Amino acid sequence: MVSNLVNAVILLGAPGAGKGTQTSLLCNEYGFFRVSTGDIIRVEVKLGSFLGKTVAHFQDKGQLVPDDLVSELVFSRLRALESDSFVFDGFPRTLAQAIKLDEYLQASSLSSSVVLVDVPFESIRTRILGRLYCPGCQSIFSSLASAAYEGMPCPSCGVQLAVRPDDNIEVLKDRYDIYNREIGPILEYYGSRVRSVDGTQPSEMVYDSLVRLLELKSFQC
Ligand SMILES: [Zn+2]
Repeated sequence: MVSNLVNAVILLGAPGAGKGTQTSLLCNEYGFFRVSTGDIIRVEVKLGSFLGKTVAHFQDKGQLVPDDLVSELVFSRLRALESDSFVFDGFPRTLAQAIKLDEYLQASSLSSSVVLVDVPFESIRTRILGRLYCPGCQSIFSSLASAAYEGMPCPSCGVQLAVRPDDNIEVLKDRYDIYNREIGPILEYYGSRVRSVDGTQPSEMVYDSLVRLLELKSFQC
């Protein structure tokens, strides 16, 4: 069994900063569970649970899901997991969520580390607008020259590569503006607890920095 010094890794960073990739790497190597608000919401809506139906109600109206509800969804997921090692990807997204998460972690005697995956907007723009995806197997192909490969067959499954519908400058700017509005108060709240890694490096190097920073050690017991 793998044991980590820290229970909860809270990854902060702009959309497109690479939090998802880092989360996958940490989960695969160190046995953390990924806690992604997006995933949890999709599952609950699909299951048609009471919380899921309530969330769908807000989404159908194009309204933001209230912090209390998002937090409750996340915590109910945490309670259901038989684990005390989590990586939070996309949560907390607001100051209110950050405060609620701290309350939950403290009440559960779980330690936490807050890491900002720091990437300037210009780099994110280049990254997101220069990628393609496969509608068949959902693989993402990131390369500055990838636009030239649009319509080419996916190397894994043969389906034609395409630009993701959300990968355009308007959607990106909207998401980044929302992020910028919310992240200030969150960083202020966490204060000296926030440590940063340079997210402009290749993902393997970001991961190395992250592992060092979190002092992750795995051992058999
Ligand atoms: Zn494919």
